[in-house]
Amino acid sequence: MHWQILIALVLGIIFGVTFPDLIKYVEWMGTLFLRALRMIIVPLIFSSIVSGVTGLGSGENLGRMTMKTIGYYLTTSLFAIFTGLILVNLIKPGVGADLGLSAVVEGLDVSRDSFGQTLIKIIPTNIIESMAKGDLPAIIFFAIIFGFFATRVAPSYRDPIVNFFNAIFEIMMKITMFVIKFTPFGVFGIVAALISDHSDNLLVIFGRMGIYMLTVIGALAIHAFITLPLIVRILGKSNPVKHARGMSVPLLTAFSTSSSSATLPLTMEAVEFNSGVSNKTTSFVLPLGATINMDGTALYQCVAVLFIAQAYGVELTIIQQLVVILTALLASIGAAGIPMAGLVIITVILSAVGLPLEGVGLILAVDRILDMFRTAVNVWSDSCGAVVIAKSEGEILKV
Ligand code: ASP
Repeated sequence: MHWQILIALVLGIIFGVTFPDLIKYVEWMGTLFLRALRMIIVPLIFSSIVSGVTGLGSGENLGRMTMKTIGYYLTTSLFAIFTGLILVNLIKPGVGADLGLSAVVEGLDVSRDSFGQTLIKIIPTNIIESMAKGDLPAIIFFAIIFGFFATRVAPSYRDPIVNFFNAIFEIMMKITMFVIKFTPFGVFGIVAALISDHSDNLLVIFGRMGIYMLTVIGALAIHAFITLPLIVRILGKSNPVKHARGMSVPLLTAFSTSSSSATLPLTMEAVEFNSGVSNKTTSFVLPLGATINMDGTALYQCVAVLFIAQAYGVELTIIQQLVVILTALLASIGAAGIPMAGLVIITVILSAVGLPLEGVGLILAVDRILDMFRTAVNVWSDSCGAVVIAKSEGEILKV
């Protein structure tokens, strides 16, 4: 399957560059595919978390899993941020950057204070509304609470509810497997449309922003190919290469769609069936990861903010760099798993260290392309987390 997706990706690029006028004839494939993935997400996440949490049994187990999961996610995000910080300080891609390249970005003030709001909105006032809007943090919060208390009622109530959500979860996974069959077509449509959107200025952008892009991609590569595999090998006592092979379909999909949320159904399927992580672990760790664990985004935000500082000739002190690290970490937790979410949240970090918000305009042109790489790293880190946590729970894996 991953060869078909890879071929679809390459064909999409060729098609987008060669026939930008014919895009409307192929774009619908990507649209349909994304719609199908989004259709799955809310029932899948809700049923998977309820089934995962009820499967954990006691509150003690739930507490332990939550601590482990959050601990893993924070640690790897910090590793990612440091990798980005080191590279951007060594390469200094922003020094002498062309400030004339910047574009005007609208709606910056709207996003400035949205981070605190994001935290508050984890508790939904109306769960049906949150589900209708696809508001994942609120859905996850409610599902955990619901699953936890479902195990606290009399067996005559508990058993049918547990069976009901297990059944929904199984059905959603079957639908996922069906949708996966169309991934190559979806990827072709999405990539062709994306490339044709950018085709007229692609080379100019690469020329002017090349060093910045290489810094981001280089740091992401170090994190994805060295740091995370080492964690899988040492902490997870598993084979990272085998695990990566099993993850090829979700990783290529993450790359093409730039959305870790949309990719979540495929990630869950691959981690469970190819890497052998139990249903109990995947259904808790992965939905949580898709919303709060974004190593690629955290790294990217850190590099981007330092790039902007360098371009404006602002020397950030160690304290300011620490503020960048901390806010990048929090901002990556708050970012949604959708395309370009990381870009908007950069404004939070910029205002935290007193840099002009308009600096976002500098990196706008290449954000969508870098989004593909960072989203793949986000998904890869979630899946490595599932392996590490499963192993620490004594599971026997296939990798
Ligand atoms: N697109 C990323 C994701 O879905 C988030 C971001 O913009 O960095 O994981």
